[in-house]
Formats: sequence, C-alpha cells, structure tokens
Amino acid sequence: AQLARGDAHEPLPDGASHANSTRTPPSRYTTGMSIVVQKYGGSSVADVAKLHSVAEKVVATRAAGHDVVVVVSAMGKTTDELLALAREVDASPPRRELDMLLSAGERMSMALLSMAIQKRGAPAISFTGSQSGIITNDRHFDARIIDVRPHRVEDELHRGRVVIVAGYQGMSYKREVTTLGRGGSDTTAIAMAAALGASHAEIYSDVDGVYSADPRVVPDAQHLPELRYDEMGRMASAGAKVLHGKAVAMAREARIAIRARSTFRPGKETHVHDDAPAPARTQAVVGARGIAELRFARRDEGWTRALEALAAAGVDAPFTMNGDAVNVRVRTSEAPDWGRLANELVGTHGATLEEGRSTVTVVGGRRADVARAVRELVPEAMDLACDEGALRITLPQARVDAAVRALHARLVTRDEEATP
Ligand code: ADP
Ligand code: ASP
Ligand code: MG
Repeated sequence: AQLARGDAHEPLPDGASHANSTRTPPSRYTTGMSIVVQKYGGSSVADVAKLHSVAEKVVATRAAGHDVVVVVSAMGKTTDELLALAREVDASPPRRELDMLLSAGERMSMALLSMAIQKRGAPAISFTGSQSGIITNDRHFDARIIDVRPHRVEDELHRGRVVIVAGYQGMSYKREVTTLGRGGSDTTAIAMAAALGASHAEIYSDVDGVYSADPRVVPDAQHLPELRYDEMGRMASAGAKVLHGKAVAMAREARIAIRARSTFRPGKETHVHDDAPAPARTQAVVGARGIAELRFARRDEGWTRALEALAAAGVDAPFTMNGDAVNVRVRTSEAPDWGRLANELVGTHGATLEEGRSTVTVVGGRRADVARAVRELVPEAMDLACDEGALRITLPQARVDAAVRALHARLVTRDEEATP
C-alpha cells in the first residue's frame, strides 16, 4: 500500500507499479470525523475575493463536522506567468530550477488561503508538498508520486486544524523539489485522499463537472453526471483538461471516487467511480492542440535513439510503424525545453518534424458510426487510430475546434435527440 501510506520503506524504483496495492486504513489518524479532501483549481483562487469565498466554503465544511484537507493550485495564470518568466531568462530552462520556480505558485495560494480561513476564526495551517509527505520519483517537471507519508497532515487534523496542501508538487527521494506535470494538483488531491483514507476527492473548478466536449468549444455539450474511470481516463489522456490524466489513473487504482464540481456554481457534479453504468453511446469528443509529429525512416536507427531521448526527457511518445515510416507523436507542452529537444531530434536523430498538429479523440460509441462520421465530416484527418474504447484522428491545429463541433453534433447531440 505504498500509495496509501507508507512507513519508512524504500521508494519504488521508477516504473514500478502500484497496480496490486490495496488501501490500508490510516492507523494514527483517529478523530472519528469523516475526512473531506477538496481541491480548488487556479480559477477558483484567482484573486483575493475568490480566495475569501473559498475560505468561506472550507469553513462551512468544517462547521458541518468534517476534518478538511484543502489542496490548492496556483492563483489564476500564475504557473503560465512563471514559466514565461523562466523562458525569458533561458528558452530551454533547466528543469530543476524550473521546479523550484513553479512550485512557488502553489506556495503563494496555500499561505493566502490559510490566512483567509484563520481570519474567519477557524484554525488552519498550510504545508508544501514536501511537508505534506508527498514523495516522488526524481523526474523534474513531470514527477510521479511514489509514496505519501502524511504524518504532519494527520497530526494537524488531530489538533482540529484545517490543513491546506500546496498542489502540484512533491519532494523526490533525493530530497529535491519536484512538480507533477501541468494540471497536477488534481493528482495531489487524489493522493492525499488515498493516504488519509477518504472515500472520495472533491475537485472544484470553473465548470460544474465533465461534459461531452469542452463547453468552451461546444456550447451545447452534454453534462455527464456519472462516468467510469475507464471513459474518464480516456478523456483525460486524450487531453480534456478538466481532470488530470494521472489523477484519474491514481483514483482508479486507489478506488477514490472523484466528484468534479464548480466552485461558484453549486448544483451539478460529475461523479467518477467504479459502479457508474457502462456508456451506451458516444460519451465525448476531445480535442488537443500542440501536437508535434516526428517522422523517421524505419531502416535508420535514429528513431530508437529518439524514443530514448524522449523517454529521458519525460515525454510520452506513442508511435506507429507503417511500411517504411515510423511516426512518433508528442505533446510539446510536456517538455519545457522543447526547443532544445526538437533540435536534438532533428539534428542528431534525423527526424522530419511537423508542428502545429492536433488530435481529436472520440470516446465510446459504435466504431462503424464513428468511422463514418470521420469520413464524412473530417476529410482533412491525416491519420486515424482506433482501439477498444476510443478513435483518434490527427489533423492540422487550425481545424481542431471545427472537427470537434462537427463530430459532437453528429455523434452526441443527434444521438441524444434520437434517444428519448
Ligand atoms: P482548474 O484550473 O480548476 O484545474 P482547468 O482549467 O484545469 O481547471 O479545467 C477546467 C476547464 O476544463 C474548463 O474551464 C473547461 O474549459 C475545460 N474542459 C475541457 N474539456 C472539458 C470537458 N469535457 N468537460 C468540462 N470541462 C472541460
Ligand atoms: N498550477 C499548476 C498548473 O497550472 C497545477 C494545477 O493547476 O493543477 O499546471
Ligand atoms: Mg486543472
């Protein structure tokens, strides 16, 4: 149960799996009250007024008789701003220093939220990821949580305090500050919920749950009240940013239900859990920008070395081989030093590079219906891959929103109309 809570044991080697871990109930933590873990994203704490309303909600939850752990993201666009600042200094900044810088964003909001809660007369204390016992591997910018040792969090809950945990960060087993990848505060919330023995985590953002498409792109997207980890995981890994992919994977493994809600528009939610009904039709259409495609000749060894370089940079790089060509797809935002890496891939390993691509992934639905919709509605699709639960196409970035809207209208809205 390394994920749940470890005592002094060696960290798992990178790549080790927690698949068989079961959650052990926390032993020291015994106030008898139920623990609520709430995570507030960047837009929920974007300014002081919003921080105050979040503090209000937290205090009300505590007053209802819960022990409350709050995970916070950096305020508004702080992480983007810090990243831009680093790039002003060096276009390919060293990752260790980047993590030192980016982790400061969450440190600001955790301290400010703690002040706002204390101002309301409720006891509170903020902790960094490292103080909260979040132990990661040593991959900067995209670290993976390998253990959570939340002793200080438990002690403070025991003292009756609200504990505010900085999201998105941890400490590697080498005692270095790490960050968990963009959007990683969701993962912090799931990891804390698992480690503290909570049954679920509440993820608050600017949207009241998960929709059949990004509501910013598709205004008539359908709200999805319940989802299985499977479909949610497919959506998240396809790039639906409402929940972080690693958070969904961890939630599934640790059996933590996710309740995705809106901070300022209470009412609806999406409940992600094991017992949600299997979907009968297309669930979602997910677009993702910022994809680069690398092409190699199969007979050259460049592509295997390129995969090596991408793995070392912590970039997920799925590839396909077709005839004499090998195509590797990467999401460039995963590499903060993409410029340097791209030069290496092209210059040293002989890649042909195409940037400005996007993907559209259709989750669920009858394969033949989805394939026909793609053929009829998205003739510009450059390649298509279909596995068990999802079909993905690649297309130029400029076309992604139009393709999402067209496929959604055909596969989700029309289906919805046809089904009473
Ligand atoms: P936070 O900063 O609180 O973590 P995010 O910006 O990461 O929030 O995620 C919320 C955003 O995710 C929404 O504003 C919405 O535009 C976007 N989003 C993308 N796909 C979906 C979807 N399928 N359902 C709901 N929201 C989505
Ligand atoms: N602040 C980080 C980001 O913008 C983490 C998060 O918001 O979840 O990516
Ligand atoms: Mg997010």
